[in-house]
Amino acid sequence: MQLNTHLQQMNGSYLFTEIVHRTEVYQAAHPDTRILRLGVGDVTRPLPQPIVDAMHRAVEELAHRETFRGYGLEWGYPWLRQAIIDNDYTPRGVSLDIDEVFISDGAGSDLGNLSELFDAHNTVAVLDPAYPAYEDTSLMAGRAIVYLPCTAENGFVAQLLETQVDIIYLCYPNNPLGIVLSREQLKQWVDYAREHQSIIIYDSAYEAFITDPTIPHSIYEIDGAKEVAIEVRSFSKTAGFTGVRCGYTVVPKLTGLNAMWLRRQCTKYNGTSYISQRGAEASYTPEGKDALRANIAYYQQTAQVLLDGLRALDYEVFGGQNAPYIWCRVPQGYSSWSFFDHLLSTCQIVCTPGAGFGPSGEGYVRFSAFSPREDCLEALERMKTKNLKS
Ligand SMILES: *Cc1c(COP(=O)(O)O)cnc(C)c1O
Repeated sequence: MQLNTHLQQMNGSYLFTEIVHRTEVYQAAHPDTRILRLGVGDVTRPLPQPIVDAMHRAVEELAHRETFRGYGLEWGYPWLRQAIIDNDYTPRGVSLDIDEVFISDGAGSDLGNLSELFDAHNTVAVLDPAYPAYEDTSLMAGRAIVYLPCTAENGFVAQLLETQVDIIYLCYPNNPLGIVLSREQLKQWVDYAREHQSIIIYDSAYEAFITDPTIPHSIYEIDGAKEVAIEVRSFSKTAGFTGVRCGYTVVPKLTGLNAMWLRRQCTKYNGTSYISQRGAEASYTPEGKDALRANIAYYQQTAQVLLDGLRALDYEVFGGQNAPYIWCRVPQGYSSWSFFDHLLSTCQIVCTPGAGFGPSGEGYVRFSAFSPREDCLEALERMKTKNLKS
């Protein structure tokens, strides 16, 4: 037996374990202080009632012999796949065949598993900073990685490559930067992929947070994208499904990958829970849509509160308009981690150090609008009182 040395040689997942560790150490030394967690990338509002009701009905069906269901289809129930097409794609002028939509147990699994479609010698491009899954799955597969720096100098928009890369991971609205790409900017990536016969894996987990009407919600709104792009989405952040688990992945037939992905899923995946799929379906009913809109509006308003509050304290902030994340430059003289420590010890606030998302994240921290509103307001008040920048 020989180990997968690529996996064996990987570092521990440093970022979130280190945040938890430093927070616990501080709390243990100061048991009476209330720490405000503004770093979380998890939703905090409970499941909307129409979704809860649909899931209750689904459980009840499973409780009776006449309506019991066992294994579903590996690629998901047709009523959910059709609801996705009718609500998320048709109104945006994107036509999809039902066989192009695969229900998953969340974006995280598919973002990793899609890597199995490609040869180990492919090169991979990932944004820097980025959600760690793209780099990690590529490293586990032993692939060479090209990093695409997103910095204040380039407006946090990665420069198009001049060399060949085979697999490109894009994430818009972006975590952690909180920014989006315009139609023209996204088209440049699609054109690149068509010219270089690359594949784009497009993570649009935060699509529902887009407010600017000119911003594309799906990569398939760009001409030719169906030939070169796989789109990965999730009910996690939009419907509060981080614990329930349901998402979907679109693999167009024009990519030539649809049959391979189906083959892979049928062998390695036995389907998403019936209960989760009924819950996801309910997010497309009129009541479900209203509830989701209200939830997302709450997070968007929280993002605005954070943006305004940080600006008033003279911080340089980016993102937060079309995404639930705010990318904040740390004051002069601090690194990501030293500012994290400073904010924790003087204000008892936890943020996410930008350097944990990649080298270009150094000098920034991320604030999350998934944090409870009252905690955000109190955090801003504490930061004002302590005047951290002096
Ligand atoms: C939260 C998140 C996801 C969603 O992951 P799930 O496995 O669906 O919960 C995907 N991509 C990014 C960038 C995220 O932040």
